[in-house]
Amino acid sequence: MHERAPLQPVIVAGAGIGGLAVTLALARRGMGVELIEQSSQIGEIGAGLQLGPNAFAALDALGVGDALRASAVFTECLVMMDAVDASEIASVAVGEAFRQRFGNPYAVAHRADLHNALFQAVRSHPSVSIHTGAKITEVAFDDAGASVATEDGRAFEGAALIGCDGVKSVVRLALLGDTHRVSGHVVYRAVVPLERMPHDLRMNAPVVWAGPNCHLVHYPLRSGREYNLVVTFHSRDDEVWGVADGSRDEVLSYFEGIHERPRQLLSCPTSWRRWSTADRDPVATWSAGCATLLGDAAHPMMQYLAQGACMALEDAVTLGAAIDEVGPNFKEAFRLYQEARVARAARVVLSVREMGRLYHASGVERLVRNSLWVGRTAERFYDALEWLYAWRAGEALAPARGV
Ligand SMILES: Cc1cc2nc3c(=O)[nH]c(=O)nc-3n(C[C@H](O)[C@H](O)[C@H](O)COP(=O)(O)OP(=O)(O)OC[C@H]3O[C@@H](n4cnc5c(N)ncnc54)[C@H](O)[C@@H]3O)c2cc1C
Repeated sequence: MHERAPLQPVIVAGAGIGGLAVTLALARRGMGVELIEQSSQIGEIGAGLQLGPNAFAALDALGVGDALRASAVFTECLVMMDAVDASEIASVAVGEAFRQRFGNPYAVAHRADLHNALFQAVRSHPSVSIHTGAKITEVAFDDAGASVATEDGRAFEGAALIGCDGVKSVVRLALLGDTHRVSGHVVYRAVVPLERMPHDLRMNAPVVWAGPNCHLVHYPLRSGREYNLVVTFHSRDDEVWGVADGSRDEVLSYFEGIHERPRQLLSCPTSWRRWSTADRDPVATWSAGCATLLGDAAHPMMQYLAQGACMALEDAVTLGAAIDEVGPNFKEAFRLYQEARVARAARVVLSVREMGRLYHASGVERLVRNSLWVGRTAERFYDALEWLYAWRAGEALAPARGV
């Protein structure tokens, strides 16, 4: 690790999971950070998150793995069910053998618990200045540094800028000028207390009920005291990316053809939030001069592999490793980081789209999907997941070296 910290801080745009993780990576290296968040409070939405073993490898490298392990639920298996006839399509054990294979568990956690673990660690570093209610509207950067200005007239200068400002990133707009792709897939999310969860669905697993143009997911949170529910469908309307209050009638109208067992989930929440989702086509360049992108700003993806936040955590660790390698020469560090990350993140974005097709198959495609994994052993599932889950912090830069 290089000893000399730069005189100017790094500007991190956005204090979501990606922004906090990279702030922590920089602060642990003695660097100053201006962390700039548009919301008046630093926080996360009330919903759950699945964390693959690769996320724990990244969290350990950031020093917060154990904080997360304390609040996460370690699941027993990953389950896919057919939402039309309630038959089991696949079940993959993620107990001891899985942990041995990947060195870490598969877990589910409340987003607030992950966010808070990162935030508490960030706050313990005096080199980090946190600015809330600060919506970035102007961005400038070159080979020597970067600056941003906020809607309310504040201005910040730094040695570099890391855009962690999500799907509709203003940093990305300045850097690449491309636009997001509204998927037309709408997600409703809710967290329900245990007592509202049907008894036959209280499973210690992320369970996906795959239906025609729709699916439902549930898993426990906080020692099983709560359950996370997510339902997704292909909207009939022209969608715009964003979040709104949900309507129960709308949800019900998309799940008329599915089996009563998953359908009972739709009565569990007393209120829903509605997300119209988006991703972007993968690009080869995330960096220019002393600016780069991270997390959803770099590679927004749909949720079908439950990997968006996991990838943001991996990004943060990799960016830290790149700085260890080249020192605070940000242009060079960002080039190295990009080289190490672009292909892997793109593979996830594209695999997620394929997964979405499998989840939402109908007709003969549904029959094909249901036959894909019949009789497959856990070992063969693990082999297929190796590329995704066996990521190691110590080898984060290996792809940039052609390894
Ligand atoms: C339904 C659903 C389920 C998911 N499930 C999983 C899962 O199980 N596992 C998983 O790993 N991932 C999951 N994801 C993906 C995951 O939520 C995201 O990939 C992750 O939260 C991205 O974090 P981020 O910090 O990059 O972006 P964000 O969380 O979007 O954070 C961006 C931050 O930047 C701030 N910001 C934006 N614009 C500005 C601006 N102009 N100025 C200042 N601040 C700004 C925002 O307020 C926000 O705080 C899921 C996503 C969805 C939609």
